[in-house]
Amino acid sequence: MSKKKFGSKVAIIGAGSVGAAAAFSMAIQQLCTELVLIDVNQDKATGEALDISHGLPFLGQMDLYAGDYSDVKDCDLIIMTAGIPRKPGESRLDLAKKNVMLGKKITESMMANYTTGNILVVSNPVDILTYMVTMWSGLPHNRVLGSGTVLDSARFRSLLSQKLDVDVRNVHGYIIGEHGDSQLPAWSATNIAGLSVDDYAKTTGISFTQADRIEIAEKTRNSGAEVIKLKGATFNGIAVSITTIAKSLLKGENTIRTVGSVLNGQYGITDVATNVPTIIGANGVERVLEFELDPQELRFLQNSAEQVKAILSEVKDL
Ligand code: NAD
Repeated sequence: MSKKKFGSKVAIIGAGSVGAAAAFSMAIQQLCTELVLIDVNQDKATGEALDISHGLPFLGQMDLYAGDYSDVKDCDLIIMTAGIPRKPGESRLDLAKKNVMLGKKITESMMANYTTGNILVVSNPVDILTYMVTMWSGLPHNRVLGSGTVLDSARFRSLLSQKLDVDVRNVHGYIIGEHGDSQLPAWSATNIAGLSVDDYAKTTGISFTQADRIEIAEKTRNSGAEVIKLKGATFNGIAVSITTIAKSLLKGENTIRTVGSVLNGQYGITDVATNVPTIIGANGVERVLEFELDPQELRFLQNSAEQVKAILSEVKDL
């Protein structure tokens, strides 16, 4: 029977830990009608597609299969999660170079079959790859976004909710800057149901000091490394982050998330992918929001963007 498109189609490139967990999460949420897994390791992609499809009788109807780059055609969303893991003793820059070269190959194969849709970059170093995929693809800049600090912001919100003993859904907070060491919390834009963190702490009689702020920022920054140390990889938190971004894009929800996109003067930053609160919807990046940050936060954000630019200058021409 010929395949007739009646809903949304998503491709996930890379069916490793992250790609497979994202596919599983998207299947549970029944986010699309067609989901294709693409991996150089075809057995892995086929095995993951089969395994997830065995749960579909309890979830709903979906066309879930392992495919190849020709299946990128007609996708509403393409998610890039393929990557080479870091070897012991390997520097971050050497790994970045390897993954940039891999990203270039993947972008060429993807664009040879691309017809429409948004591209979500997850593979690390995600800020570098978001910029490079934007440039290599030649697509309008709003069509390419990175998962950026969406996961970091979720970790930040969880830590704040624990400290303040409040439902995490009432905590609005953003980690901005690099998905990496130079990231920072935008405290000036963080609130608990509309109250500043300090006002909330005062109202509820909870002690919240400068040392608590520093500890939460540090724990957020180190969360990924902590999970890797304990279980070898991170994939569930990022899978749900991917799903939440995918939902906003596919359903045109205009949600505010700290995704990455190439900035064009916002916050005084240009020509680098930076993670700041952004409205995401059917067109990908609908608008980069310019929050009024306090002057020190703004300086740290600009410094973070400069650090990413410095790595970019080393890998741009590979
Ligand atoms: P993994 O090693 O489990 O999976 C990577 C997959 O990519 C493998 O299945 C491999 O066969 C596949 N692959 C390699 N080359 C390919 C190609 N040319 N085409 C298609 N597939 C190819 O790794 P993982 O744990 O799934 O992580 C994947 C990426 O996601 C890594 O770069 C990792 O650092 C990144 N990651 C990002 C975040 C984030 O917040 N942005 C969080 C976790 C992981």
